[in-house]
Amino acid sequence: TIDNGFGSGEAASLGRSILLFAVMSLVLVAGSFTRSLLISWIGERVSADLRIRAFEHLIFLDADFFETRSSGDIQSRLTADIAILQTIIGSSLSIAVRSIILCAGSLVLMLYTNPKLTLMVFLAIPLIVLPVIVVGRRVRSLSRSNQEKLSDVGSYINEIIFNIKAIKADLHERQDIARFNQRVEGSFAIASRRVFVRSVLIGLVMATTLLSVTGMFWIGGQDVLAQTITSGELIAFIFYAFMMTFSVAAVSEVYSDIQRAAGAIDRLMELMTVRPRILPPSVASVLPSVCTNILRFDQVSHTYPSRPEQRVLSQLSFHVANGEYLALVGPSGAGKSTVFEMIMRFYDPESGAIEFCGTDLRRLSHAQLRGQTALVSQRLLLFNTSIRENISYARPDATTHEILEAAEMTHVTEFSDRLPQGLDTVVGEGGVLLSRGQCQRIAIARAILKKPRLLLLDEATSSLDTESERIIRNALSGLIAQTTTLVIAHRFSTIQEADRILLLDRGQLVAEGSHQSLSQQSPLYNRLVKVQFRPDQVPDKTARQQLLN
Ligand code: ATP
Repeated sequence: TIDNGFGSGEAASLGRSILLFAVMSLVLVAGSFTRSLLISWIGERVSADLRIRAFEHLIFLDADFFETRSSGDIQSRLTADIAILQTIIGSSLSIAVRSIILCAGSLVLMLYTNPKLTLMVFLAIPLIVLPVIVVGRRVRSLSRSNQEKLSDVGSYINEIIFNIKAIKADLHERQDIARFNQRVEGSFAIASRRVFVRSVLIGLVMATTLLSVTGMFWIGGQDVLAQTITSGELIAFIFYAFMMTFSVAAVSEVYSDIQRAAGAIDRLMELMTVRPRILPPSVASVLPSVCTNILRFDQVSHTYPSRPEQRVLSQLSFHVANGEYLALVGPSGAGKSTVFEMIMRFYDPESGAIEFCGTDLRRLSHAQLRGQTALVSQRLLLFNTSIRENISYARPDATTHEILEAAEMTHVTEFSDRLPQGLDTVVGEGGVLLSRGQCQRIAIARAILKKPRLLLLDEATSSLDTESERIIRNALSGLIAQTTTLVIAHRFSTIQEADRILLLDRGQLVAEGSHQSLSQQSPLYNRLVKVQFRPDQVPDKTARQQLLN
């Protein structure tokens, strides 16, 4: 445009140059539109796919994985870290693609216009690239710690929401605000360091590139004066050089973003590379439909992976006959709940074996074992959906009639009928919108619907009023009569009714037999009965004193 347009003084030539410029601009617009559309779409797609994959991976991980990690940390890897990848793929990568093309194009045009000056640019490249690499690494490690601090913030929020009533009851709000501020400020401090390092990087890149452009200006200016190149050539060259400078700067900015993404990928990969240890066998054994002993513990010892120094079950052996009603009793921390967790195969024993209908649990598929065992736990496992869906949770294929039958047997309908939406009433997170007794009835209805061969029941210690307790006992009696039951007993009536009682202490079986025989044999049992199983459910004075001690 300068040399052949203005320089030639021909209007037609100027017109051609400007037309070419206009056409190129249109191509640029179309290219930018397509780039932005496609790459942003890819960013969204990649993050959606990653989330799905990560969740699919996560849900099959072992129980101990979730005990040793905070829920906030896991959440932030699936949400915040993937969000970083999404922005970086969807915008930074698009900028990178544009800048790399611009940079390559400028270089070709520079070489075409003036190879000597281009050589100078090449000499300056290592000067530009070196700080990008060195500082980029720092950005990556800072981004990682920033994400870790942020996940700390997330975990704290989760804990607060979960314990909000305890916080209010103990007037702990101010302390929690202070602790929360501390966490947020910690994350801000690291983020500011990252922002500073990133700005230094951009500044360094701009300075080195502009310095080399200035050098080129000087040498090119000499050539114009010596008339070896035209001023149009020099201006075009400088224009390309500026285009290159800005695209290199943009790439370096993107590079630090990519380092940030690398930090997020590191954190995500940490999650994705954890492998579950509790795996079903590649070929499952065939489970007999009838067996004498539905369950057998053979010299089972267990230590929780999260606390390797403490053995929780030690050489534990017992069996549960088909149709039996067996009670587990023992002081707090004796290992009763652990026995249940082992039966559900949330953990494998350190030594010894557990058999379900004569087959080692490790030779059964999860569906064979967990599909035929129902766990009614003290920690009420309700989901934030309708009563109906909570009941049919283990059997989504259950008919309305079956659900209603289970709801009636467990007296769920007694309270659901009084609610405007009946069985379609949503129970709230963890069942907060219902009473504990109502939640328990739903949990029992769920177990009934599952028609288990083995029922694991952790009796509620909560002091339900006698009416609720009677309703729950009624609800349970139907289920217990139909199936083999292993119950962690907390009520006097349970140990009286049980066919057999196992007394556990520090992970060992210390006595077994009926209530009568244990009362005669075991001082520990008698002590427990006095303290834990109060026949009238009201602690007498001595028992209360013992509890207080
Ligand atoms: P309670 O009657 O108080 O519920 P329990 O007899 O059911 O007690 P368990 O819950 O089986 O006792 O716990 C047995 C021991 O194992 C305890 O010392 C406990 O601290 C420990 N324990 C339980 N769960 C875990 C876990 N997930 N990781 C590490 N240790 C655990």
